[in-house]
Amino acid sequence: MAHLVNYIYIVSAALFILSLKWMNTPATARRGVFAGEIGMLLAISGTLLAHEVFNWQWILAAMLIGAAIGIPIAYIMPMTAVPQRTAMSHACGALAAALVGTAEFYREPQHGFVLAALIIETLLGFLTFTGSLMAMGKLQEVLPTRPITYRNQNVMNGILFAVAAGLGVRLIVSPGDTWIFPIFAGLSTIFGVLLILPIGGADMPTVIALLNSYAGLSACAMGFALDNKLLVIAGALDGSSGLILSIIMCKAMNRSFANVLFGAFGQLQTKAGKTEQRPVRSASAEEAASILDVAGSVIVVPGYGLAVAQAQHKIRELFDALTRRGVDVKFAIHPVAGRMPGHMNVLLAEADIPYDRLVEMEDINSEFPQCDVALVIGANDVTNPAARHDAASPIYGMPILDVDKAHTVMVIKRGMSPGFAGIDNELYYLDKTLMLFGDAKAFTAEILKELPVRAGA
Ligand code: NAP
Repeated sequence: MAHLVNYIYIVSAALFILSLKWMNTPATARRGVFAGEIGMLLAISGTLLAHEVFNWQWILAAMLIGAAIGIPIAYIMPMTAVPQRTAMSHACGALAAALVGTAEFYREPQHGFVLAALIIETLLGFLTFTGSLMAMGKLQEVLPTRPITYRNQNVMNGILFAVAAGLGVRLIVSPGDTWIFPIFAGLSTIFGVLLILPIGGADMPTVIALLNSYAGLSACAMGFALDNKLLVIAGALDGSSGLILSIIMCKAMNRSFANVLFGAFGQLQTKAGKTEQRPVRSASAEEAASILDVAGSVIVVPGYGLAVAQAQHKIRELFDALTRRGVDVKFAIHPVAGRMPGHMNVLLAEADIPYDRLVEMEDINSEFPQCDVALVIGANDVTNPAARHDAASPIYGMPILDVDKAHTVMVIKRGMSPGFAGIDNELYYLDKTLMLFGDAKAFTAEILKELPVRAGA
């Protein structure tokens, strides 16, 4: 039996690794998710086979309750709420790790390395649990989204963490002092809340990737504590992929970790933001349609507004209509367009836009100068040329899509409201830019209606 379980674990670990690899590109992403699911099913089966199960009823009941909560959530939660849904899963995973750690601590005396792993697991588990709940509350706007700051906050947080970690060390050295454990767990829990307080709701997606990494490390430590190799592997993969993802996000926003965690970003720029009272050129759907009709190449730049409007299916119709006319249509994907990594890929894939039409920022930027029309749909910050030259701008240095280099720029958005960074966008005031004011889905539908009918198109 032990051999069989080991083989199951090896297959499962391989599937987890392949799953991450396949999730790298939209073309293989679905396969990646499927591989991860099969890997997890095998992991659970292997673990149940490896241990004597005392009570199947409890395990089945837990599975049923989990499925009864998880399946409806998958259907009810809109795409725009995926960051908070992810935060909720991290909270559950981290709480599970923390509770297993607590149970193991009291179940039988542990010593040395195993106890150290167990303490790390519990510390990270509890702080990730409350940190993730806070992140979810901020994203869902049930908690104030602005950063909450006070004097010496970072020093006080640092001291709190040091005390919690110090108590953990004390428990490792003298495991008999079990009375310390509840204080240690309580401080870890409070630290999770205080860690998130000074971070603005806008930075939560990056923080969630980081919390994902903590939850993974906690699971990895649990693997050492329970002597389960697969848990060590899965936790390490989870921990490192979360960290890599948060680094990618920080890079794409030209922010440092310290700036995200301690910078209280979003405090100065209010949501309403200051937008200049300069004239812009606006156009009707009919004018937009006639420009698109004669274009040879169009680059569509999707952003957060596309997700809000759920315009992906209408955009697919526009893509089809233009392609039938012989227009070369591509989609420019900025790594942090939207509110979560891969947000635009997922939306456009949902509407079955061919994957080879989605082009990453580094590859598409050289094409803008030759492109007839850049059609920006609900994107804002990721197209702001100020990021290239205005050292005073909060997004200075952030890599952007060079939309302003296209021959004509058309921007669909509802008004002149700023985006995530709360700042005005100079793109809108260029002579070559036409503002198409309206909801992304409704305006795209209008354009489709206005496209001149052509034989064969
Ligand atoms: P954005 O800068 O947030 O702008 C979105 C724009 O969409 C808004 O200006 C809004 O203008 C418009 N909009 C909203 N609802 C709309 C609707 N129904 N129809 C049409 N337009 C609508 O979005 P982005 O260009 O995608 O940039 C993403 C930002 O999020 C970046 O600053 C990035 O750093 C940040 N961020 C991203 C991630 C990530 O992982 N993707 C994580 C953290 C932070 P109106 O209100 O005028 O319509």
